[in-house]
Amino acid sequence: MLESLGSALKKGFDKIAGAIFIDKKTIELIVKDLQRALIQADVNVHLVKEIGDRIKKEAENEKIKGIEKKEHLTKILHDEIINLLGNQKHELKIEKGKNNKIMLLGIYGQGKTTTTSKLAAYYSKRGFKVAMLGLDVHRPAAADQLEQLGKQIKIPAFIDKTEKKALNIYKKYKQELEKFDLVIIDTAGRHSLDKELIDEIKNLTDMIKPDYKLLTISADIGQAAKNQAFEFQKACNINGVIITRMDSTAKAGGALTACNETKAPVFFIGTGEKVNDFETFNPEAFISRLLGLGDLEGLLERVQSAIDEGSQKKTKERLEKGEFNLRDFQEQLKQMGNVGSFSKIMEMIPGLGKTKIPEEMLGVQEGKIKKWQHAINSMTEEEVNNPEIIEKQTTRLGRIAKGSGTTTSDIRQMLKQYKLLKELASGSGDLENFDPAQGLNQKQMMKIAKKFGKKMKF
Ligand code: GDP
Ligand code: MG
Repeated sequence: MLESLGSALKKGFDKIAGAIFIDKKTIELIVKDLQRALIQADVNVHLVKEIGDRIKKEAENEKIKGIEKKEHLTKILHDEIINLLGNQKHELKIEKGKNNKIMLLGIYGQGKTTTTSKLAAYYSKRGFKVAMLGLDVHRPAAADQLEQLGKQIKIPAFIDKTEKKALNIYKKYKQELEKFDLVIIDTAGRHSLDKELIDEIKNLTDMIKPDYKLLTISADIGQAAKNQAFEFQKACNINGVIITRMDSTAKAGGALTACNETKAPVFFIGTGEKVNDFETFNPEAFISRLLGLGDLEGLLERVQSAIDEGSQKKTKERLEKGEFNLRDFQEQLKQMGNVGSFSKIMEMIPGLGKTKIPEEMLGVQEGKIKKWQHAINSMTEEEVNNPEIIEKQTTRLGRIAKGSGTTTSDIRQMLKQYKLLKELASGSGDLENFDPAQGLNQKQMMKIAKKFGKKMKF
C-alpha cells in the first residue's frame, strides 16, 4: 500500500542527505516529487499545495545552515507528512467488566461485517469477553456470514436469520449480551446514506446507546472518504472511523488524510481479508514503515493477534538484547501462517525496511518455511543455541538434512537467513559512527527523522 508515497519520501530524505548545498533548486525538486506522490495517493490537491508551500518557506530560512539545515528539513518533511495523517494515535476506551458496545456503521460493501469479526478477535486476544451481534436484516446472507466468522474465530455471534426487525434481535438477546465485556454490533448498509438508513441507525442507537459508533470506510474511495465521514458525522454523530482494504488500493493516502480533515479519528486500519489483517492506526509508526524504518510496535501488535502476549514480550526483549537465536527464528516462522507473508513481517522489523532486504529473502515461500521448521526440529539443543558448529562440521549438516528430509543447501540457506535477520534486527550502523566530514547517509538520516518525531516537539 502507498508504495509510491513511501519511495517519494525516501527519495526526498536521500536528496537532502546527499546534497552538498540545500539550495532552492534542491528544495524545488524534493517538493515536486513529494507533491506528485501525494496526488497519486489521492490526497487533496489543496492540501498538497499547502504542504509544498510550507516546506519551501521553512527551507528558505537563511539562519539555519549546513548540517543543521539538513536536519531541519528532514524534520519538516517528516512532520508535515505525519500531520497530514493526524499526528497522534487514538485509542478506544474499552474497560473490562463494563459491557462496552461498539457499533459499526457504513454503506454497502465497505467491510462492516468483516471488521466486526476483526475487532472481536482483536479484543478477545487481549483478554476481553467478546460477543458479536448481527443486526443486518437487509442482506439475506449477512447473518450466515457473521455466523461463519464467529465459528472461525470462536467468538459467539448472536444472530436471527428470520427476524426482519433489527431492534427485535437486540431485544431478544439484550439480557444475554450484558454478560460480555464488549459487544461488537454489525449493522446493515445501503447504497448511500439515505433517509431510510439514517432513520434505522437513529432508531438503533437511541435504544442500544453504543459507547462508540464507528464508520467503516474502504480505502479505495480515496478522498471521497471526507464527504462520507462528514455526512455520517452530521447525521449519526459517529465517534471515529475504521479504514478497510488499505492493502488493495493506491488511494489509501486520500482516505486517511480526508478523515483527518473531518476530525473523525481513524482508530483502526484493515490490511487484508484475513481476521488478523488488522491494526491500530498510528500515524508515526505508519510513516516509519512507509519509509522502511520499521515499526517494532506494529509488528508486535500484529504478531500478538496471532500468539499469546507472554511469548511475544519475550521475543521483543530478546530482539532488543540481541539474544535472538534459532529457536526464536523458528517461533517466528511458526507464526507466519497466521501473521502474513514474510515480506509483511520484514517491513515491520526496525531496520528491515524493504529496501534493505535482499530479494532472495522476500521470496521465501511457504514450502521453504516448512522445510526450515523440520530442519530446526532435527537439531540438537547445542546446535540450536550455537548454529556456527553446524557450518563447521559437514557431518552435522548431513545428519540434520537426512533427519528432516531436507538438503544441506536448504539448511545452509536457512542459516544464512537467520544470521541476516539477527544482524539486521540487532540494529547495526548507528549514529555513533557519524562522521561530520562525510555527512549523513540515508540510514542515519532516517534515524534522526525518527528521533525527532518522537522526542522533539518544537
Ligand atoms: P459490509 O457489506 O460492509 O459488511 O462488507 P463486508 O464485511 O461483507 O466486506 C466486503 C468485502 O471486502 C469482503 O469481500 C471482504 O472480504 C472484503 N474486505 C473487508 N476488509 C478488507 C481488507 O481490509 N482488505 C481486503 N483486501 N479486503 C477486505
Ligand atoms: Mg455486512
